[in-house]
Amino acid sequence: MTVKDDGPEGGERPETEVVHFGRKPFEQHGFVNTPVYRGSTVLYPTLDALHARTQPYTYGRRGTPTTHALEEAITHLAGGAATILTSSGLAAISTAILAFAQGGDHILMVDNIYQPGRAFAEKMLKRLGIETTFYDPHIGGDIDKLFRPNTRLVMVEAPGSQTFEMMDIPAVAAAAHAKNIWVLADNTWATPLFCKPLALGADVSIEAGTKYIVGHADAMLGAVTSNARAAKFLDNAKEALGTCPGSEETYLALRGLRTLAVRLERHQRSGLAVAEWLAARPEVDRVLHPALPSDPGHALWKRDFTGASGLFTIVLNPVSETKLAAFLDGLKFFGMGYSWGGYESLVVPFDPTSYRTATRWHGPGPALRFHVGLEAVDDLLSDLATGFERMKAA
Ligand SMILES: *Cc1c(COP(=O)(O)O)cnc(C)c1O
Repeated sequence: MTVKDDGPEGGERPETEVVHFGRKPFEQHGFVNTPVYRGSTVLYPTLDALHARTQPYTYGRRGTPTTHALEEAITHLAGGAATILTSSGLAAISTAILAFAQGGDHILMVDNIYQPGRAFAEKMLKRLGIETTFYDPHIGGDIDKLFRPNTRLVMVEAPGSQTFEMMDIPAVAAAAHAKNIWVLADNTWATPLFCKPLALGADVSIEAGTKYIVGHADAMLGAVTSNARAAKFLDNAKEALGTCPGSEETYLALRGLRTLAVRLERHQRSGLAVAEWLAARPEVDRVLHPALPSDPGHALWKRDFTGASGLFTIVLNPVSETKLAAFLDGLKFFGMGYSWGGYESLVVPFDPTSYRTATRWHGPGPALRFHVGLEAVDDLLSDLATGFERMKAA
């Protein structure tokens, strides 16, 4: 855990912050990037020093100058008190929940939560005697009707990373805090540049750094930023669970962070252009993207977010599997695969019907989640147009 230090001043524009936070060139011979510190053992110069444990680094798992740099940068960007890093985004979710919940507790999770997070609750947390209730993302302040005397925390996520429902994080946080319940937010879609859940009332903000922060589909990493009240719980959980990211992965996240603002700006612009083009296609029933004025979540997005990333979903009109395959299999620039946040465009079909419990998913046709990468929009549109021709001919 790195507690916010004096470091850079703060208050600069986000584009400047991602470039300058988390590096101190003149502490490393002037080289601009924080180097990769590999290591487990850290030496103590004297017996006194070993007993005092006051030196900044004590053991590899507890942190290195490389992890410190990334923690510091993310803490500043997210507007928190401290950040812990984990080996993946899912480990960030599980570590954050286990920091607060214990056997006999009840927790609340939004129904459109990242699916492996849901599986963690349904399998592991259940086995530990922690009960989960899933709730409709549109619940708002009515969430207090679901609170029980043993409710420990509420997990929020906006928008959901498959179906893109927005939720009223400040309303949920206010209701939770009135009952001393912790609020944990998965902020991966927006990144700390486009949304700051701690400012909206969450106690903890979770990032799958794997996505936009790493930004190049070449590393796995998670980050959990907390306010001052929650920070000690996160540090204890990280220490108890022994989760830590690899040195190389941490470096790749720091490197990705430097270009995050410029990449996101392009993901946003191209994502909206592709979303608008798709919305006008006869094959498409609807587009789920909160930055589109027609989206039901648009007002909340506008109130709480300063931008949109490149991930959204379209729902097709009813179409056969053969026609869908003709569309997807021949795409040149949209790779088919899970994950997102890298430089390249992706598409993946999904069907949430089998795992949602508090809400119902309505077709009418298959849903496709798009990640719009950094390619030229015109090339992406002509790829999709050709795909729709193949679909029609199949
Ligand atoms: C990918 C993702 C995660 C998990 O991150 P990993 O690094 O893949 O474990 C968590 N939340 C959201 C919203 C994600 O998209």
